[in-house]
Amino acid sequence: MNPSIASQRIAALQQAERERFIATHPRSVAQAEAARAHYLFGVPLHWMRDWPTPATLAVHSAQGITLTCADGHRYADFCLGDTGAMFGHSPAPLAHAIAEQAAQGLTCMLPSTRSPAVGEALQRVFGLPLWQMALSASDANRFVLRWARAITGRPQLLVFDGCYHGAVDDTLVDLDPATGRTLPRPSVLGQVHNHAAFTRVVPFNDLAALEAALAAGDVACLLAEPALTNFGLVPPADGFWPAVRALCRRHGVLFVMDETHTVSTALGGYARAHALDPDVLVVGKAVAGGLPCAVYGFTHAVGARMAAAKAAAPEGHSGIGTTLAGNALTLAALDAALTHLHTAPNYRHMLALAAELEQGLVHRIARAQRPWTVTRLGARLELQFMPHTPRHAQDVRDHAQSELEALTHLFMLNRGVLLTPFHSMMLVSPETREGDVAALLAVFEQLLDELAR
Ligand code: PMP
Repeated sequence: MNPSIASQRIAALQQAERERFIATHPRSVAQAEAARAHYLFGVPLHWMRDWPTPATLAVHSAQGITLTCADGHRYADFCLGDTGAMFGHSPAPLAHAIAEQAAQGLTCMLPSTRSPAVGEALQRVFGLPLWQMALSASDANRFVLRWARAITGRPQLLVFDGCYHGAVDDTLVDLDPATGRTLPRPSVLGQVHNHAAFTRVVPFNDLAALEAALAAGDVACLLAEPALTNFGLVPPADGFWPAVRALCRRHGVLFVMDETHTVSTALGGYARAHALDPDVLVVGKAVAGGLPCAVYGFTHAVGARMAAAKAAAPEGHSGIGTTLAGNALTLAALDAALTHLHTAPNYRHMLALAAELEQGLVHRIARAQRPWTVTRLGARLELQFMPHTPRHAQDVRDHAQSELEALTHLFMLNRGVLLTPFHSMMLVSPETREGDVAALLAVFEQLLDELAR
């Protein structure tokens, strides 16, 4: 069989799927139209338009991994709010904790009596002893970068090509493959500061480039995900992280792991499972079960340097923190999440079922003789329309097949299965059942059959 699929075939199938969506989702279509009166692009957050549907899918409710849309269709959700709902939508212990706290004060700009227990639970789950809170992973990363520059007195940051750490200006930069220099990311709106001057970018899995970027002794920290998860899924090569950590230590560079997505790898995240020993760790999105919350943890040594930097600064705004961070409602949710959701049995279930899903996909891809790959990191899987596991972001760019990807998403959505938009990520939650995996695989098989016609 010819492994490449004619673009006319993809376009014809996509057109049929668009028509099918419109015919079967009259309420979503009507809401999308009505919402244009009050929202830019008809949605409260403009990314909500980045799904491959001709009109935005309006959600009526979500429970477990079942999402019900305005038209009453039910979906097996493998997107899970792009990890925010990794433990399922509205898990019962979380819903109860939020309801109980909601009647007892939401925010006081003072710690609730729960904070000592939550601090202990954070150390128990993630391993680091000291913590601060923020409302989003973007905020947490931004604050960590500020601390890192403050305590090292160094201006430069180091990130990997293809990284995404949230709406954090310093990290929204690209690598110029021709020169190896940093470029501002052209898609970023309203840029006036030259972040490329203060951030270095190197390819993932490239130790020589990383060492060269650290050589001048002016880098405050390396901010990295344990695997790239926002540019496809790019896992680390064997031995990569111990070597990176050794280089960071040798050059006095803080080693910061952003586990916002890789918390799906194992209980406590990838860094803990692989003993990476970071100086600072960031977790957002699912950390409190999907309520707006992010945390950053650090060692006693880093904490002492933070305290010294704060003491040495004049009184006034630090540029770190926002008013609602660490509020009582969030602490109640975080407490419940750390106790009832971040648990060994939950991860055992997630990892076992994700392995089953991986096997099922790989088997069907092989049978259909498609040159595609499935990459799995714990409970997170990525379907990649390329013949090997990518090694760095350029590898992903070189093999991009956006029309096929968009068709895959819409085809599956029209048959009751949600994948994560932007790429083809599937996340398995403690609420995912074998029947959900079987449903995904059956729809995937239908897609393979259609593509073979
Ligand atoms: N870090 C990583 C690794 C992420 O993937 C994201 C969002 N996708 C963020 C940080 C930012 O999260 P938020 O949008 O919730 O601030």
